[in-house]
Amino acid sequence: MSSNAQHIDTAVIGAGIVGLAHAWEAARLGHSVTVFERSPRAQGASVRNFGMIWPIGQSPGAAYQTALRSRERWLELSSAAGFSARECGSIHLAYRPDEWAVLQEFLTRGSDLGYECQLLAPAEIARKTPAANPQGLLGGLWSPTELCVDPRQALAQIPRWLHERYGVSFQFNTVIRHVEAPLLEAGDGRQWSAKRIVVCSGSDFETLFPDIFARAELKRCKLQMLRTVSQPADWKMGPHLASGLTLRHYKNFEVCESLAALKRRVRDETPELDRYGIHVMAAQNELGEVVLGDSHEYDATIEPFDKAEIDELMLVHLRKLIQIPDWTIAARWHGIYAKHADRTFLEAEPQPQVHVMTATGGAGMTLSFGLAEAAWQEWK
Ligand SMILES: Cc1cc2nc3c(=O)[nH]c(=O)nc-3n(C[C@H](O)[C@H](O)[C@H](O)COP(=O)(O)OP(=O)(O)OC[C@H]3O[C@@H](n4cnc5c(N)ncnc54)[C@H](O)[C@@H]3O)c2cc1C
Repeated sequence: MSSNAQHIDTAVIGAGIVGLAHAWEAARLGHSVTVFERSPRAQGASVRNFGMIWPIGQSPGAAYQTALRSRERWLELSSAAGFSARECGSIHLAYRPDEWAVLQEFLTRGSDLGYECQLLAPAEIARKTPAANPQGLLGGLWSPTELCVDPRQALAQIPRWLHERYGVSFQFNTVIRHVEAPLLEAGDGRQWSAKRIVVCSGSDFETLFPDIFARAELKRCKLQMLRTVSQPADWKMGPHLASGLTLRHYKNFEVCESLAALKRRVRDETPELDRYGIHVMAAQNELGEVVLGDSHEYDATIEPFDKAEIDELMLVHLRKLIQIPDWTIAARWHGIYAKHADRTFLEAEPQPQVHVMTATGGAGMTLSFGLAEAAWQEWK
């Protein structure tokens, strides 16, 4: 690389939620920040998700505390930057005795671990949401900590606000193809020299530091999603809703011994749900649309084409659980995230002052602000 490089202070590569969280944190600490994003706007996992800020699903201890801290930061940012982050909470609904057993066990074990939950009877659930199907409903687990954001709105508004408030510079349509600290080089040959470089490249393991990614025990995970048309204006779902199937998915419920029986029953009764990693959840955004999902297919099983069978399975199981005035599907898509085999995220320092921060798995919206804050406490 030549020395015609433009000098900058902090470079962030990737304008997904992880990159934006680092840009915000660095800017708050007084650094001058430039964000490089290969697309005209963020188009990765960060705009394709539910927009659920989901502390309840995180492992007890550090991950849960990081999620709660991120939640505070989302509320602060949404009011400063002017986008919606609704304090909606969540309910896991139980229709089968084994699901109800897990929720009851989690109430005791989870409370000891600091989770703020409460069991609800069907009549109490009906007071919180018109969407839970009362037929066969045994009860639910209420958690007050979850937030609802519309990722399309947040991921568009945060860069605008970071620019206006802190002068953060955004270089969209700029792929960084090489980093050799302190230099970064774009695909068109432009170069910058930065004091610190934070690589937040999501599930792209090939462009930068492929050697680091190859050694890092990362997986890619593909999720299929659906979104309904806007519901009638007077119909509000209220809290996020999650199924008994969801209890198989999130780490927090692993503290429950009763989970094994539920997993066995789902495996024997509906192996297709295990095959595609399906558990179902629903969130209503500020436009009144209900976002529905999801499935999980990993690495070699990921195909470019979405499976109609997965969408059908998700809808069949969602319809058992929730009632929505208008089930017309307005959009179908998939997203891919990077996940570490056993850690909450991947952090690496391949060169001095170059930090790779990625692989937040299915919890990047939930954890990014807390993770970025902790990282910059160490680096400053
Ligand atoms: C369908 C789906 C639903 C989900 N639901 C939730 C949820 O409800 N709650 C939750 O907490 N999490 C959820 N997640 C997980 C969450 O979305 C991810 O953990 C998070 O978005 C990852 O953010 P990221 O910034 O690492 O990646 P991305 O959003 O993919 O951003 C990476 C960015 O880097 C850019 N980039 C990469 N390489 C370069 C380069 N060399 N030069 C320039 N730019 C580059 C890419 O273009 C991209 O914009 C979901 C994920 C999916 C896919």
